[in-house]
Amino acid sequence: MVIIDTRSGRGGAGAGALGPEIWFRSGTERPGLFPGLARVLEAFFTRYRKFLPYVHAAMFVAFLVAIIVPLFLPLPPEDATPLNNFTVAVNFAFWGIWFPLVFLSVIFTGRSWCGVLCPMGAASEWANKVGLQRQIPRWIKWEGTPIVSFLIITILGQTVGVRDHPLGIAEVFGGTLLAAVTMGFIYGRKKRAWCRHACPIGLLLGVFSRLGAVQFAPKSKHPGGDAYAERGICPTMISIPRKEESRHCIECFRCVKPSSPGGLFLRLRAPGEEVAKIRDHNPNAAEVWFLFVGTGAALGGFLWLILPSYQTWRMALGTWAIDHNMFWVGEPGPWWLMSVHPEAREVFTWLDFTMIVGYMLGWAALLAAGLALATGLSSWIAGRLGGEGSFRARFVELGYQFAPVAMVSLLLGLGGKLFDTVVAAGAPAALVGDFKAALLAGATLWGLALGARILARQGVSFYSRMFALAPGLAGSIFIVFSWWPAVVGA
Ligand code: SF4
Ligand code: SF4
Repeated sequence: MVIIDTRSGRGGAGAGALGPEIWFRSGTERPGLFPGLARVLEAFFTRYRKFLPYVHAAMFVAFLVAIIVPLFLPLPPEDATPLNNFTVAVNFAFWGIWFPLVFLSVIFTGRSWCGVLCPMGAASEWANKVGLQRQIPRWIKWEGTPIVSFLIITILGQTVGVRDHPLGIAEVFGGTLLAAVTMGFIYGRKKRAWCRHACPIGLLLGVFSRLGAVQFAPKSKHPGGDAYAERGICPTMISIPRKEESRHCIECFRCVKPSSPGGLFLRLRAPGEEVAKIRDHNPNAAEVWFLFVGTGAALGGFLWLILPSYQTWRMALGTWAIDHNMFWVGEPGPWWLMSVHPEAREVFTWLDFTMIVGYMLGWAALLAAGLALATGLSSWIAGRLGGEGSFRARFVELGYQFAPVAMVSLLLGLGGKLFDTVVAAGAPAALVGDFKAALLAGATLWGLALGARILARQGVSFYSRMFALAPGLAGSIFIVFSWWPAVVGA
């Protein structure tokens, strides 16, 4: 078996020692919250797991219908609704239901979307069964691959108008499906190289699954910490007996056998537990940077539509280009790179394309710099006040404190269609706005509480934690206020 230790060099006595998960052999109570419920859920999914291919096939057909059929339908009239127009219904299904619910579900059920419903991951695995099954190359395994993939898809989604045009949806989602199938066809052996290494959504769901209430833990844990196993039952290359982190687990239930003393078992836990104890769950620097950069890019993708600064800078850049005889910036580009829909009164030029890309990358850099500064200050203060470990180790651990507020802000900003629909259905707009504000405030407090628990595990005393928490709180408030237009409207 090819096993590569993925730990970051940090160890500790508890990390590799046999944990309480050895419960099965000793006949003691299943660890975690609500053990009875966990047992029932585990029994249900392992019993009916054999039907998952039918679920995947149905999802695959529905997915193809959703991205292809609207291409052949006329533009929806102004007053069309999801109830009387298929194109509008598909758009609502993607942005009003799928996007917010997948994010919300992570808190309650981890990456259940990936293992149970996602047609792209399943298609990638099907292709893998009949494909070339080549060794997964190093460039795919590079930790930055899913970050690049996320940035490309998120930015392309904005420039081609994925939220408004059927062609944009077909290109972004169809292109992602094609990439997943192609990578599955070429690389890996009975694996999902795409899901582990390249999916733009997978890394996002992986980070937030660490907050989730569901964990798949070894019944009898082997020492050494998480490892990468290219052979074995797990489609995302997790070494089953050494599993500690949730992020790569797509909850396919293949390694779960209720009557066996080996494999994993379903454990329910308090949301946030893994982040609070991140030291024992393979914290990862690339994941933290993704959290910073990805949140900023998504923020830029929302703000360019509403902030006056975007139009001001667009005007300035356009004037500068014309002054320098670069008249081509006023020409539309190819349809696959930018939105060219004269029938919908939207035609992007190279100026628009450049501005959107620059604005999103600018916000990604700004937010990443701000959060890195806040996290670095927290880590430095923690070190001065008795926190153990290196500056880098503390930095990576403390970076996870922003996960709740990043998740809620993404939900509010990019899943805004759900809230718009609730208002359109008759709910008072002020009440919905208050609800959004309460969600952001709750996420900020949650992040603060997680930060305090991370610091406690670093050995920082109760009173000293207040000082180390202050920069983290400032970072969360920075995110909240950046997303504030999503709460109150532009
Ligand atoms: S990682 Fe991506 S492609 Fe794979 S199952 Fe999850 S969402 Fe689908
Ligand atoms: S650890 Fe188990 S449940 Fe998770 S993805 Fe691997 S095989 Fe599936």
